[in-house]
Amino acid sequence: MLSQLSEFLEVDFEKKALVDSASHPKLCLRAPYFSDVLSCEFDYREDPYTKFCPKCNRKYSEDENVCLDCLVALKKLTDRKSIREIKNHPVFTFKGKNKYNDFKSILTDENLVKINEFKFTMKDYDKIIRHIKRTSLENLDKLIKNNYVDMNELSILGKVLLFAKSFVRIEYKSYGQELGYFENNKIIIDDRQSSSLQITTLIHELAHFLIKEIINGVLCRLLKCSKNRHIDVLSSYILSYDNFPMLIDEYSAHCCEGRFTVYGYQDYSSFLSIIERMDGEMSRDEIEITKSIGNNFANTIKDILETFIDDELLEDIKDEFERHNHERPNYEMLKLENCNKLTDEGYLRAIWLVIIEGFKNAMDNIDELEKYYNGA
Ligand SMILES: [Zn+2]
Ligand SMILES: [Zn+2]
Repeated sequence: MLSQLSEFLEVDFEKKALVDSASHPKLCLRAPYFSDVLSCEFDYREDPYTKFCPKCNRKYSEDENVCLDCLVALKKLTDRKSIREIKNHPVFTFKGKNKYNDFKSILTDENLVKINEFKFTMKDYDKIIRHIKRTSLENLDKLIKNNYVDMNELSILGKVLLFAKSFVRIEYKSYGQELGYFENNKIIIDDRQSSSLQITTLIHELAHFLIKEIINGVLCRLLKCSKNRHIDVLSSYILSYDNFPMLIDEYSAHCCEGRFTVYGYQDYSSFLSIIERMDGEMSRDEIEITKSIGNNFANTIKDILETFIDDELLEDIKDEFERHNHERPNYEMLKLENCNKLTDEGYLRAIWLVIIEGFKNAMDNIDELEKYYNGA
């Protein structure tokens, strides 16, 4: 089934150009960054402003009380939370006439037929992506307004963190080796890391969230149902019950990291360990097709992230990343990069394959889904 997808492969020229440029870096040594030099020349004189206008963000001194341009009362600068402290509970919905309140009523033969028929086009896919984009931008707008965020004052990490908070809850940890992980619609991140590592970790974990949301959208469309926690758990299961979807999920997250930083620096261990575990269950060609499917998902996720991460912020992220990474990219690991993607028709078939295989498997493992649902 998987090998039949090879006829739909084409070169992903954009990714190929990025990987090629990492393989042949320009022969110039970077001058030290001015921000490194200047950061120690910070002006320590006391800031004369203690208040700000919640509308135009202009700063005011202690004896002022109102902004006469905006006709609002001023707020104290100390009332403004850091991005890290901002609490958020973003909700992503998909609506349909059916509502399923247990796994037994989702995982029926009738629904298996609907999934197998796969009445789903690229137009339906685009609608799902637009919906995800709109929801996150509405969430972002609320976060900015409700917390009086002054975008001009944010660091690069602050901007990425704020944007990430428009998708998922974010919590911090300060133990263990992992840089971060995505679990139960939460990203857990280790803030002992450099800002550039926190940025790449956020992008990696956001990719895991978004691929699951895409599967949620397709499932709700096919079953004409609303998204709830049962559907959400099923999507997580579809992406994690077997090495095949796990490799797609991990490769796509990895690829998103490369897109927003530089290829060849990422930690390749997460998907290498999946390949190792497979122990010959897939041929080399099948593994490459699976990675190509990951590239298609990564392209969509990149498209979603670019609603906020524009060229300017992207350049800033790359600069921040290169500032913390002085070594050369890992050329051996660069060889693992797959630069093919599927045509639209091939991609739809791949999504069908992922969902039908996962759905069939879920039908035989309702206990597993229940356990996950109950937080085991
Ligand atoms: Zn004002
Ligand atoms: Zn991952």
